[in-house]
Amino acid sequence: MAYATTNPYTGEVLATFPDATDDEVRQAIADAHAAFLDWRDTPFATRAAVMTKAAQILRAEADDFARLLTLEMGKLFAEAKAEVELSAAIFDYYAEHAESLLAPEKLPVSDPRSGDAVLVHQPLGVLLAIEPWNFPYYQIARIIAPQLSAGNTVLLKHASNVPQSAGIFQTLMKRAGLPDGAFRNLYPTRGQVEMILNDPRVCGAALTGSEGAGSVIASQAGKALKKTTMELGGADAFVVLEDADLEKTAKWAVFGRHWNAGQVCVSSKRVIVVDAVYDRFMELYIAGVAALKAGDPMSPDTTLAPLSSQGAANEIRENIAKAVAHGATATEVGPRVPETGAFVQPTILTGMSGDNPARLWEFFGPVSMIFRARDEADAIRIANDTPYGLGGSVFTKDTARGVEVAKKIHTGMVFVNHPTMVKADLPFGGVGRSGYGRELIGLGIKEFVNHKLIDVVDIDAPF
Ligand code: NAP
Repeated sequence: MAYATTNPYTGEVLATFPDATDDEVRQAIADAHAAFLDWRDTPFATRAAVMTKAAQILRAEADDFARLLTLEMGKLFAEAKAEVELSAAIFDYYAEHAESLLAPEKLPVSDPRSGDAVLVHQPLGVLLAIEPWNFPYYQIARIIAPQLSAGNTVLLKHASNVPQSAGIFQTLMKRAGLPDGAFRNLYPTRGQVEMILNDPRVCGAALTGSEGAGSVIASQAGKALKKTTMELGGADAFVVLEDADLEKTAKWAVFGRHWNAGQVCVSSKRVIVVDAVYDRFMELYIAGVAALKAGDPMSPDTTLAPLSSQGAANEIRENIAKAVAHGATATEVGPRVPETGAFVQPTILTGMSGDNPARLWEFFGPVSMIFRARDEADAIRIANDTPYGLGGSVFTKDTARGVEVAKKIHTGMVFVNHPTMVKADLPFGGVGRSGYGRELIGLGIKEFVNHKLIDVVDIDAPF
């Protein structure tokens, strides 16, 4: 059965869930559409009250919600709690701001004969959200908080290894007072996903996941003329300039690469250090990685979690071997990770020359690609030598210089003196093979609304 909870720390299969039937899928679409017809006209204040209540429940029961994340995909309990809080903050953000973000906009027209032109932002209808397992709650919150606040309704197809996290969010929204059908979790097959996209009542799809999945869903949706947003993979550059505070920078690099066991689209996957400080930085970085403690993700002493599944761990090890076969040097760092559980030994890849195809891959685990750059210009060149364009960082004491370097890095987000940050009130998204569209803030809530022009014109105005 595809949908199952398998504890990545013990390897135990804890629960399985049958695929949806075609009738269940058809019913969910009908219910979501029926819910939309009321929900689109429900006042913002009523919708905001549901969002606020969802945030309150998450915070009140944070330990229970967090425990399920750790159980299903293995993240550290402390990180799971932070994810619960982040999800609550996203609900709060839209409870507070949705109405003003979607307020009608009077258009400045140069000729009064153009009329009183106003842009109104109206919800489109039923949306499909397809989400990955690495942040099971945050990913759902990131799409449903804005879209439900806008008046759309949402069907969810979550990753097959987090079925309980998906299910509990449907219960959460029902407890928060959301009308039946307005948010429904399904365990669909691939064929049923396509069936949903082809239904005329479904107006768009938001996918977060790999390039492969993005390409399939974007083409299926495109064929059906449905709008999509794509939040795909990344290989964020972490640029260290010669004037950076090296001790603090190395700490951030260790964190940026290893939080969530390195399974973050915006992990600092490619660390690029200018020659002048390379050797000193490497000493600090290797010491920092070696100090990570792999173990039980529920233990507060653990700082390196297992990967989400044994399959994911095997894939990373295979990709390290391929990188080495193409000429890279792999150095394992730190004490041996536990033999049971989906652990991968932290590994540093160096000597990734311009003809090593592995330099262009996304390593979704505790694997650091480290590049030595001649100088700032060379660091920017290496940072842009990637098909991805999600996030990135620049470390320098001269923040004005950092901003200039940031402008030259071709991604959707660049942070000066911080690994790519994830917050309720900052936008998220990328360019290139990292996808298109943005989630969060006003950009996210406006992805699936009809920006409708209403123009009141003097009946005697000339054509
Ligand atoms: P994935 O295999 O692409 O899965 C993501 C979602 O897509 C899952 O729900 C998956 O369902 C579904 N899916 C995959 N192929 C599909 C198909 N042909 N038809 C319908 N649904 C399909 O991604 P992953 O490997 O689990 O997640 C990691 C990837 O997500 C990384 O590349 C990471 O960088 C990216 N990511 C991006 C962001 C961002 O905001 N840019 C955030 C987080 C993660 P199943 O589980 O049933 O296959």
